[in-house]
Amino acid sequence: MSEKRDRALGMDRNITRRDFLNGCAVTVGASLKPTNSTWFQAFGVAEPTFDPEKNPSYYPPAKTGLRGSHDGSWEVAHGLRDGQTWPDAIDEKQSYDLVVVGGGISGLAAAYFFRKFGGANSKILILDNHDDFGGHAKRNEFKAGDRLLLGYGGTQSLEAPHHYSKVAFALLQELGIEVDRFHQYFDQKFYQSMGLKRATFFDKETFGVDRLLPGFGTHYLGLQYSQETLAEIPIAEPARPDLSRLQTTTVDYLAGLSPEEKRRKLIKTSYQDYLLEYVKVHPDVIKIFQSAPHGLYGVGIDAVSAWDCLQMDYPGFKGIHLQSSEDSPEQAEPYIFHFPDGNASVARLLVRSLVPGSAPGSTMEDIVTARMNYARLVNPDSTVRIRLNSTVIRAKHLGDPQSAKEVEITYVRGGKARKVTAAHCVLACYNMMIPYLCPEMSDQQKQALAYAVKIPLVYTNVQIANWRALQKLGSNSIYAPGGYFSSVSLDFPVSIGEYHFASQPDESCLLHLMRTPCKPGLPCKEQYKAGRWDLFTTPFDTFERNIRDELGRMLAEGGFDSARDIQAITVNRWPHGYAYEYNPLFEPLDRPASERPCVVGRQPFGRIHVANSDADGHAYTNIAIDQGYRAVREIAVGGKHETASSGA
Ligand SMILES: Cc1cc2nc3c(=O)[nH]c(=O)nc-3n(C[C@H](O)[C@H](O)[C@H](O)COP(=O)(O)OP(=O)(O)OC[C@H]3O[C@@H](n4cnc5c(N)ncnc54)[C@H](O)[C@@H]3O)c2cc1C
Repeated sequence: MSEKRDRALGMDRNITRRDFLNGCAVTVGASLKPTNSTWFQAFGVAEPTFDPEKNPSYYPPAKTGLRGSHDGSWEVAHGLRDGQTWPDAIDEKQSYDLVVVGGGISGLAAAYFFRKFGGANSKILILDNHDDFGGHAKRNEFKAGDRLLLGYGGTQSLEAPHHYSKVAFALLQELGIEVDRFHQYFDQKFYQSMGLKRATFFDKETFGVDRLLPGFGTHYLGLQYSQETLAEIPIAEPARPDLSRLQTTTVDYLAGLSPEEKRRKLIKTSYQDYLLEYVKVHPDVIKIFQSAPHGLYGVGIDAVSAWDCLQMDYPGFKGIHLQSSEDSPEQAEPYIFHFPDGNASVARLLVRSLVPGSAPGSTMEDIVTARMNYARLVNPDSTVRIRLNSTVIRAKHLGDPQSAKEVEITYVRGGKARKVTAAHCVLACYNMMIPYLCPEMSDQQKQALAYAVKIPLVYTNVQIANWRALQKLGSNSIYAPGGYFSSVSLDFPVSIGEYHFASQPDESCLLHLMRTPCKPGLPCKEQYKAGRWDLFTTPFDTFERNIRDELGRMLAEGGFDSARDIQAITVNRWPHGYAYEYNPLFEPLDRPASERPCVVGRQPFGRIHVANSDADGHAYTNIAIDQGYRAVREIAVGGKHETASSGA
C-alpha cells in the first residue's frame, strides 16, 4: 500500500501499541543478554539478575501490540529444535515434589490436583516460557480514561460446562465459579434489543465489490439470507438460485446408501466437494461458505468433512436423514459462560488458589478486576512457585527411568540454563515439544507425540472510540468470507462484579477479530504448517494495516474512520494454537481410540507424565483440566496409566 493510503488508515497514529514496543525491548533484550559470566568477572562487576517479574511495573496483561506467543517466548524452543545447546546449567540446588512444564490451564490444574492429593505442603514449581501464565487463556487489558476494558486473547468461554466431567466441574466450583450466575451476568437480549444482528461482509478482492449485508452466522449457520438479501449478494446470477435452493433443500443427495454408508461417505468428502459434486451448486456459492468453519477448525470447507458440517447444521443435509448435533445436550446450553477476559479468569483463579497473596479477593466476581501481583509468583515462602519467562529444555531421569527417584529439569531463563530436581514431572506443554525434552523416550512414543500439528490462529482485540458505526449498520457480528480476518464482533455483553461492558454506543469498547492463516487446497496439517510459518513471519505492521483496511471498508457506511476511531490494538498470534483435533477427512476411519497418537504419546515415562489438551486431541478447557487430573492420578496410583475419563 502507498504511504498516502497508510496515512489515511492511520498507520502513523501513536496508538498504545507503542507501549508494547518498549515493553518488548526489555523482555527480548534481557533474554538475549550475554550468557557468559566471564565478562562480568573480568570487569569485577556484579552480574545483573534476571527477575523482570519483581519490577512493580511488570504487568503483561496491559501490554498491547503483538501478544499471544510474543517475541521472547519462542526463541529458546526454536533454538533447541535447531540443535542449540546451553552448557553448564546453574544448579539451583532446589528439589521439588513436582515440577510442571507449562503454566496453561492444564499445568495449573495439575498443580492444583497434586496439592490436593499430596497435601498443602507439597512443593511445586511451574515453569512457562511466556511472560504471563495461562497459556492460551490470555488476558488483554485496555484503558478508556479510567475505565478498564477487558478482552480475551485466547480461550474464549466455558463451553457447555454442565457437561464437563465431574472432576472439571468440581474444580470450577472449588475455585468459586458458579456457572449459573452467568445467566445473570451475560445479557443475552442486549444486542437484539439494540436492533443488532449478524451480517456478512463481501470484499471486492473476492466478490468484486465491498458490500455489507445482513444475515449468515460465523461458526454455526443459524442465520441465513433472506430473499431480499439474496438478491444483493455479489455473486454470479446463476449462483443465486443455487444459494437459495441450498438453504431450503430437502433432497436426499445420497439416496440409495444406507445410513452407515452415508456417514462414511460424508466423513471422507469435504463439504466443498459435497456442495459441488452432490448438491451441484455454482462455484460462487463455495466462496461464501469457504471460511465458515475457520473459528472451529482453522481451515475452510475444502478441508472439513461434510459429516462435520452436518453436525454443525450447515445447509444441504435436511433430506439425508442423519442425526445432526442440533439436538445434542451441548447445543442446548447457551453460549454465555464467558468471563470478560475469557478463561484467563479460570487461570487467575487457579493461581490465586495456588500462590498465596498473588491476587486480592475471594470470589469469581472480584477476580475479574483484581490486579495480579506477579512478584508473588516466585515468593520463596510459597510452597507453589510459578516461574515465567522460563523455557524448559530437558527433563531427564537421574538414573534408569523405571527405578530413578528423581527427574532433573533444565530450563533457560534470561539466556542462562538452570536446573532443579523433582520427585515427579508433569509435561503440560505442547506435545511436539516433548521429544526434544525427553530424547530417551521410545521412538514409538516420540513419533506419536510429534504426530499432531497445532492449529494456528489469531485473536485480535481492537479498542475503538465508540460503536456508533456498528449501531448504525445494525450489526454486532460480521462474517467476512474473503477477509484477512474472517470474523469481527463486538465484545460479549457481560457485566460481572465491578466490571461493566460498554452498553452505550458512545462508549469505547473492544472489537474482536479472528484470523486463521490457512492455505486452501492443501491437506489440513499442511495448511497448519504453512499457517504457522505465515504467523511467524508476519510483522505487527502488516496485521495493523490489514486491521485498519478491513475495518475501514467494512464499517465505512456507518461512519467509521480507522485513523480516527482505533485507539489500541493487541494481536494475539498463536502459531501453536488449538490442540490438533483428529480431522476425520484426513485420518484413518476406524482407528481404535487406544491407537490414537495422543493416547500412545501420553503414556507415563518413569516419573514423567504428560498433561495438556494435546494429550486428548481436543482444544477445550475441560479437556486441559481432565488431562491435568489424569497425569496427577497416574502419579497417585504409582505410574499406572489411566484413561482421561477415569475418575472424571
Ligand atoms: C485462540 C484460542 C481460543 C480458544 N477458545 C476456547 C474456548 O472458547 N473454550 C474452550 O474450552 N477452549 C478454548 N480453546 C482451547 C483451550 O484454550 C485449550 O484447550 C486449553 O486452554 C489448553 O490448555 P493447556 O494448558 O493444555 O495448553 P496451553 O494453554 O497451550 O498451555 C501450555 C503452556 O506450556 C508452555 N510451554 C510449551 N513448551 C514449554 C517449554 N518447553 N517450557 C515451558 N513452557 C512451555 C506453552 O507456551 C503454554 O504457555 C481455545 C484455544 C485457543 C488457542
